[in-house]
Amino acid sequence: MSVDSLTQQNQQSFARVWGLRGLDADALKPEERHLLRGMQAHRALYPLWDRLNHLDAGAPVIGSMNPIAHTIMHAILEAQIEDADPSEVNAALEDLMQAGFSRNEALHVLGSMLALELGEVVSSNESYNDARYRGRIALIRQQLKNPEDVESRLRKMGRNERCLCGSGKKFKKCCLDHLPVDLKRSTWAFVLNSDFLYAVPSFMAQGGEDELFVLLQSLSAVVQTLEQMGDEEGAWHALEDMLELGKDDEAAVEDVCQDIVDFALNHYDFAERALAILDQSHPYGLESNDAVQLTWDLDRADLLARAGRVEESAAIYQQALERWQNGNSDVREILMNRWDLWKSDWQPQ
Ligand SMILES: [Zn+2]
Ligand SMILES: [Zn+2]
Repeated sequence: MSVDSLTQQNQQSFARVWGLRGLDADALKPEERHLLRGMQAHRALYPLWDRLNHLDAGAPVIGSMNPIAHTIMHAILEAQIEDADPSEVNAALEDLMQAGFSRNEALHVLGSMLALELGEVVSSNESYNDARYRGRIALIRQQLKNPEDVESRLRKMGRNERCLCGSGKKFKKCCLDHLPVDLKRSTWAFVLNSDFLYAVPSFMAQGGEDELFVLLQSLSAVVQTLEQMGDEEGAWHALEDMLELGKDDEAAVEDVCQDIVDFALNHYDFAERALAILDQSHPYGLESNDAVQLTWDLDRADLLARAGRVEESAAIYQQALERWQNGNSDVREILMNRWDLWKSDWQPQ
């Protein structure tokens, strides 16, 4: 079993379960409930889940994260929590949250141990070692209470001694490379086959997932992923989602509009829709200096040209040339560069 096949097998059930999210939790089977809860763990991934039926180019990867594999970890943990099996998981979740971790951060700590366990099953064809998994989670709890004690016990371990997690294996073949867990580190790598396929993108993990700026940055990565996978409608859908989430924050609107313009300048089919958004949102520069104003005007002109409205586009350039002919040199330089580009694209030779 490889990570890719794991992901592909699951893509269809993800799409099906995502369609159930309007239902009451008790109308769902336990495995559907767990998966749905996992899929809802990161708001930034919603536009990706909306597009699962349109993705056929293999597994999506966001930054270095495989969101499907990542979510499988969430779902397995939700099942373990609900069944209280192993019971160490619930106890550790509680301890971590009491120590100030958000629920998601705590799940990522536990998930890094789960991924380690599954990684050993996948890469070494070992059978699942329940004692090892429970032992490692118990060590996280001890580490929370007394980090120095756990660290010094690990330091004193001989490489050939039986590992302190209780797996029955030698330390060097078990926890030597994996413990102690760095509880201060906020990027929880879910390691499998020593690839960081399951890493949480650092911007998602640095706490603050609830902050608008962090959320928009994560969504922007989702836009790029959908775009790279050839799902332009999906990328656009994610951009609209960003705009909706950011609509009450002027700085966010400006950032998102910039992403929208950049996208539409590369995908002409979206130029009209981007123009409509610019006309509604007026994102024209909070700290309005001349260069910012000019750049928005010229972006708008370039969108018009890409929408086939070349004369309207030329008129904006003409106005700018008249207005800024005596402007400062920075502004004139921007204008002349963009004008040269415009002419080479749109002026018949
Ligand atoms: Zn997560
Ligand atoms: Zn061990």
